[in-house]
Amino acid sequence: MIFSIRNIAAFFAAWMLILSGKMSRLRKRAANGDFLLSVYFHDPSRKLFESCVKWFLRKGFTIISADEYEQIASGKKPFPKSAVILTVDDGWRNNKENIAAVANQYKIPVTIFASTQPIETGEAYWWSYIAAANKQGLVKQSVTACKKLANEERVHLVNEVKVRIPLEREALTVDELKEISNTPFVSIGSHTVTHPILSTCGDQQSHDEIARSKSILETWLHTPVNHFAYPNGDYKEREIKYLQSAGYRLAFTTQTHYITPGNIAHVYTIPRFDVLETISFTENICRMTGLWFNKSLFNEKH
Ligand SMILES: [Zn+2]
Repeated sequence: MIFSIRNIAAFFAAWMLILSGKMSRLRKRAANGDFLLSVYFHDPSRKLFESCVKWFLRKGFTIISADEYEQIASGKKPFPKSAVILTVDDGWRNNKENIAAVANQYKIPVTIFASTQPIETGEAYWWSYIAAANKQGLVKQSVTACKKLANEERVHLVNEVKVRIPLEREALTVDELKEISNTPFVSIGSHTVTHPILSTCGDQQSHDEIARSKSILETWLHTPVNHFAYPNGDYKEREIKYLQSAGYRLAFTTQTHYITPGNIAHVYTIPRFDVLETISFTENICRMTGLWFNKSLFNEKH
């Protein structure tokens, strides 16, 4: 956690939310099967990921796999009570020790969505080059601003920076990805090839990112890759069409909603709550349970 005025204020706000009784009402509704939770991580410390897993287990949650999620969505399994699905984006190198090792230790399923290019080439993620260049005054655009650029423009800028600022590998290696994919509680999904913002890509580029990452991962891992997470959570209707034609069966967004019996059939727009590496665990409890985003939801009378 980073100590800042924002984080300290948010820590107390999170405690107030928990003490207000909203958390216990939320858990009762989860136990009633009103909704299931969907949570995602990026590059958490082992302590943070393990604390989240232990919190869910202590509160009586069952952690379900993406395959079980498919069965629930298709009606082959009943909608669960007190359940959560855990996913991880990008394929960070630390995921091997901080995610996969914990998943196998606690025997809880987790899906890691990997972008294949940083894994294959050893280059850093594109936003790390922009952040480093921005800090050194080499580019004026922030990472957030770059996400809004047309894809070719962003790629051009990143390529210019790459030759000037070499960065170390941030992603798993192909061998590490294979190794964790072979462990019992980890499944691998796709997060495109280069992690573009799909909504800023041309049709062909978006289609290739979605289809090619699936075939690359399947070649590496010798197992079907049926699940996808949109980079930065961005998508349009055409991405759903490309996903369907490539044979994906689930796709995860970054929309902060609950999964309910009423929306679980929308398998290409699955919502997720995030856990952040820079904030207090108390605030993360409120984030991963959706309390942070849906304060008004629990003001309703039920
Ligand atoms: Zn990502």
